[in-house]
Amino acid sequence: MDAPKSQNLTWHAGHLTRDDRTRIYGHRGATLWFTGLSGSGKSTVARKVELALADRNHHVYTLDGDNVRHGLCRDLGFSPADRTENIRRIGEVCKLFTDAGTLTLAAFVSPYRSDRDAVRALMPAGDFIEVYVAADLSVCEARDPKGLYQQARAGKIGEFTGISAPYEAPEQPEITLRTDQEDVDASAARVLAYLEAHGHVPKR
Ligand code: ADP
Repeated sequence: MDAPKSQNLTWHAGHLTRDDRTRIYGHRGATLWFTGLSGSGKSTVARKVELALADRNHHVYTLDGDNVRHGLCRDLGFSPADRTENIRRIGEVCKLFTDAGTLTLAAFVSPYRSDRDAVRALMPAGDFIEVYVAADLSVCEARDPKGLYQQARAGKIGEFTGISAPYEAPEQPEITLRTDQEDVDASAARVLAYLEAHGHVPKR
């Protein structure tokens, strides 16, 4: 990564430690990074997980695809370089939220393995949980919840992941959800079970 432009920067550690926040909140911050093709179900499953965690009175926040492009990443498009910068910025935001003790859900296509690995490398081991939301392209295309595949096939959207741009599947994700073989409740339950099993949230 490039060095910061400014010099004479000093990192100020917060007064509250991660352990303090874990004790206060009753759970550990983490980033759940949902990656997969458009229409694979990232937002749908993330929303279910968010509601379930909120129902347990946990601190949870979701960063979702289009929203960041309205503000934080409004200057970025979908070229490979812009996609990489988009994910880098989101990763930095996730790192801060996670350090603040929030269960942070990120739902982005994030098609490049190196970009996802760079986000993983930003955080202490265990904080980054890669959730591969897997469904065959044909299933995603049949769902086409936003009509994007239809537009991509008609040539109205260029560089569309799965059609005219690559998707690099995770090699060792912490969790794989086959949304073309299990329903949303089953996928969400498996994410919650992972968080419990790895001590991020108390068992219920
Ligand atoms: P993404 O965020 O990956 O682009 P969305 O969550 O926006 O995908 O859309 C997925 C679509 O597929 C939704 O319309 C959802 O209702 C539907 N769907 C059908 N079965 C499932 C499943 N098992 N898991 C997740 N979504 C599913």
